Amino acid sequence: MTGLVTIVGLGPGDPRLLTPAASEALASATDLVGYGPYVDRAPEWPGQRRHSSDNRVELDRARFALDLATKGAHVAVISGGDPGVFAMAAAVFEAVENGDPSWRSLDIRVEPGITAMLAAAARVGAPLGGDFCAMSLSDNLKPWETIEARLRAALTADFVVALYNPISSARPWQLGAAFKIVAETREPDTPIILARAVMRPDERIRILPLSEVEASMADMSTIVMIGASTTRLIERPEGQAPYVYTPRYYGVRP
Ligand code: SAH
Repeated sequence: MTGLVTIVGLGPGDPRLLTPAASEALASATDLVGYGPYVDRAPEWPGQRRHSSDNRVELDRARFALDLATKGAHVAVISGGDPGVFAMAAAVFEAVENGDPSWRSLDIRVEPGITAMLAAAARVGAPLGGDFCAMSLSDNLKPWETIEARLRAALTADFVVALYNPISSARPWQLGAAFKIVAETREPDTPIILARAVMRPDERIRILPLSEVEASMADMSTIVMIGASTTRLIERPEGQAPYVYTPRYYGVRP
């Protein structure tokens, strides 16, 4: 059997949001490799070996998967959301670029999934209707100075900004620092979306003005979206969350 590595996106949580192609890749794999909670989320197939690991050393997990594939395994490496968005696909290619030359002849495929940003946007309306960008706020793999410079540039360009990895026990201050930077350029009533565990049973979504938002309202299962100057709320009757959207039309035909 020729070895194969497929890096599969599981989507945000609800199994109905797993694509049929991703589902087929999981079903036909001889080995599943991934962070424990993601492996637990994948449906079980008879005869399939499951290799759970902790979430820290993505490159080791990638090398492990590539090694299995050189021995002929069909390996599915799984990620939440989309595997190309701050997840395992880049780790696998980084391992290939710097690792055993025989890994380059393996068949490596990526099966996309619905990323947290798109799932969260769909829950609240259409906040990504205009131009937007996505950033990871984690300074585990890149310096904080880079993150800060990029955030300032995104705010200056008036993008809607989605922040992945906003906070964790090991990174407690970065989100607060980011909100301070946001407050330098955006109005106090700018809508901020805090979308936690989107499309999972413990989902919680809050929409707050920038002036009321606090870093402690987010955790590592939260994606934070910062509205652009054009992002608006459509208020609804008492007790119902507003819709949030960013119009595509700027009021001037080009
Ligand atoms: N590959 C994933 C992102 C991995 S980075 C994707 O495409 O969604 C991990 C971060 O993603 C978390 O810290 C959180 O910010 C975000 N995230 C992942 N799943 C989420 C969900 N269901 N709801 C809200 N945020 C989520």
